[in-house]
Amino acid sequence: MLNRIAVAEGDITIQHVDAIVNAANNALLGGGGVDGAIHRAAGPGLLAECRRLNGCATGQAKITSGYNLPAQWVIHTVGPIWQGGNQDEDNLLAQCYQNSLALAEQNDIKSIAFPSISTGVYSFPMERAAKIAVTEIKQFLEKGSQIERVVLVCFGQRAYNIHKAVVKEIIGAGDITS
Ligand code: ADP
Repeated sequence: MLNRIAVAEGDITIQHVDAIVNAANNALLGGGGVDGAIHRAAGPGLLAECRRLNGCATGQAKITSGYNLPAQWVIHTVGPIWQGGNQDEDNLLAQCYQNSLALAEQNDIKSIAFPSISTGVYSFPMERAAKIAVTEIKQFLEKGSQIERVVLVCFGQRAYNIHKAVVKEIIGAGDITS
């Protein structure tokens, strides 16, 4: 695990990694938040490719090219809308990380950046979401993976602090890079 999970603060669209993950919606036709930022930065080719994908179910993931982004690939995953916690939200969010990482593995991706899926418009509590994210990433990497680096990109200081603390709790301080 050493040095394979990093927490960074900033805009995911400028990350120099093989793939960035988009917190998309079921239509995959763009939206607000990180989805809008990714489509703006990637340019119209991304929307054109997304139109051909016929949407994406919650918890699943689909891959496209990155167009004008520094990242070669975008992995689009659809997080659950928070409805209080009894509508399978935790499991669906875990599936987003599992399926995105599996798709990265299939495409020989070595470095991948995630936003904090579902914690914006979809209102998933961030600390709870961060624990799921870090747990799933850790489990995936421990199974044996070619993925060398996973970056948790946090939008703002509060998100950064939450993710740093969760990584420390679940992985241990010695493994943190940023
Ligand atoms: P969702 O609908 O899955 O909640 P949002 O895009 O509304 O998706 O929010 C997901 C997370 O992404 C939020 O924590 C939000 O602050 C963050 N975010 C928004 N813009 C960016 C960006 N450019 N880079 C990284 N994270 C971002």
